[in-house]
Amino acid sequence: MVKVAISGILGRMGKTIAKLAYEDSNIEIVAGIESPDCAHTHDTVGEILNVDLDAPIVSDLSKVIDITDVVIEFSNSTEAALSHLRLLAADKNKKGMVIGTTGFNDEELKEIKELSKDIPVVLAPNMSIGVNLLFKLVEEAAKALKDKGYDIEVIEMHHRFKKDAPSGTAVKLVDILKKETGIENVVYGRNGEYPNGRPSDEIAVFALRGGDVVGDHTVIFAGLGERIELTHKAGSRDIFARGAIEAAKWIKDKPAGLYDMMDVLNLK
Ligand code: NAD
Repeated sequence: MVKVAISGILGRMGKTIAKLAYEDSNIEIVAGIESPDCAHTHDTVGEILNVDLDAPIVSDLSKVIDITDVVIEFSNSTEAALSHLRLLAADKNKKGMVIGTTGFNDEELKEIKELSKDIPVVLAPNMSIGVNLLFKLVEEAAKALKDKGYDIEVIEMHHRFKKDAPSGTAVKLVDILKKETGIENVVYGRNGEYPNGRPSDEIAVFALRGGDVVGDHTVIFAGLGERIELTHKAGSRDIFARGAIEAAKWIKDKPAGLYDMMDVLNLK
């Protein structure tokens, strides 16, 4: 049994994770964590789910750290996620953390890496099995097509409420493409004149926003005469929530270190 506290529990992802975790007999929800600024009327997780569950909703992780094995972080605030990680890393019991929050800058990522020397951390901008397989397929395609005259474009689309752009998943796809192709130049959107056509030594990223799209990602490798498109489309938030729950079970009692979903899903 893994005892989890879910941060951002009143958000779109938080509620989905709470619902699936409640239905999972190997997980016990011991607390929800929410922003102190969040105007909400629920005092317990049971009230959100409309079930008999007393787990409190608090705004301060330190109040529930002793009863928690793993924190599942899905707040929409990178500062909140980092402050929770700092607390866990400083705690003598060395509890694990699963971070689904996206939008960290380079400095914040550096701090996450540093703090994960003290506790086990799974950091994954996308926790679905399909997207992690997409990461692997993109890696293979980029390796095979490197220096063979294929232009690379990345397109993502998400719902109108998403705070960060491009998505954390698109950023990770770009990191994989840069690593495998050696291309350093990344452009975000395109606008203007291209008298010499598209530069061959760039990866372009387009972030589309609208409606209620859960999350689409496509990587295009376009050559002269053919084109390969690798696409993942998320139809429901459940796929991310299931991945987060799997990661929480996996990380309990793991040694300190920074892991991702490829580790959890054994895709490496
Ligand atoms: P959301 O805006 O619906 O919910 C975020 C919640 O976090 C809100 O309830 C907000 O009050 C809460 N919050 C803000 N500050 C907080 C704090 N200090 N402590 C605790 N909670 C706090 O957002 P969402 O759509 O649920 O997405 C949440 C995050 O997860 C985003 O960063 C999103 O990009 C990311 N995401 C990741 C995956 C993945 O698989 N890793 C999938 C979907 C979304």
